[in-house]
Amino acid sequence: MIRRAIYPGSFDPITFGHLDIAERALGLFDEVILAVARNDQKKPLLSHEERIHLATEATKGIKGHERLKVIGFNSLLVDCARKQDAIALVRGLRAVSDFEYELQLALINRNLSPQLETLFLMPKENFIYLSSTIIKELARHKADISHFVTDSVATALKSKFP
Ligand code: ADP
Repeated sequence: MIRRAIYPGSFDPITFGHLDIAERALGLFDEVILAVARNDQKKPLLSHEERIHLATEATKGIKGHERLKVIGFNSLLVDCARKQDAIALVRGLRAVSDFEYELQLALINRNLSPQLETLFLMPKENFIYLSSTIIKELARHKADISHFVTDSVATALKSKFP
C-alpha cells in the first residue's frame, strides 16, 4: 500500500517555507500531493494556473521531488484528499499565531473525514517568519526576495509590480 499525503494551500506564491515542509513530508510518506487551492475568495495575487506552474517548477529542486506531484483543486479539501487516496493531510505550523486556525481546520476536517489524519510539521527556524503575504509585500516594495523564494517566483512577482 502506498502511503500518500496531501499538502494543501494557496501557495500565493510558493516560498522556501512551503518547500521545507514538502521535503519533510516526503521523508515520511511514499508520495506527496501538493494541492494548490483555487481560493478565489482570498483574492490571490497570482492566478490559479500561475501558482500551480510556479509550485511545479519550485518543487523540482527538492529532495525526493520525483515522488511529489502538484495538482490544482477547487473542491472541498477532504473530497480532494479522498480522490487522491491520501491517508494524511500535512500542514505547516510556524508559530502560536497559526495554531488556532489550524486546530479549527483540523477538527472540522476530522469531522468530515475521520480517517484522514492531520499532521503538523515545523519548518527550519529560518523560515518560521516567512509567509506568502510578507513576500508579496516585499516584492511590492521591490525588496530583494531571493533568500525566500525561487528565481522563477521572484521573476513572476516582479512582473506583477512593474
Ligand atoms: P492557506 O491559504 O491554506 O493557509 P498557504 O499557502 O498560506 O495556504 O499555506 C499552506 C500551508 O503551509 C499552511 O499550513 C501554512 O501554515 C504553511 N506555511 C506557509 N508558510 C510557511 C512557512 N514559512 N513555514 C512553514 N509552513 C508554512
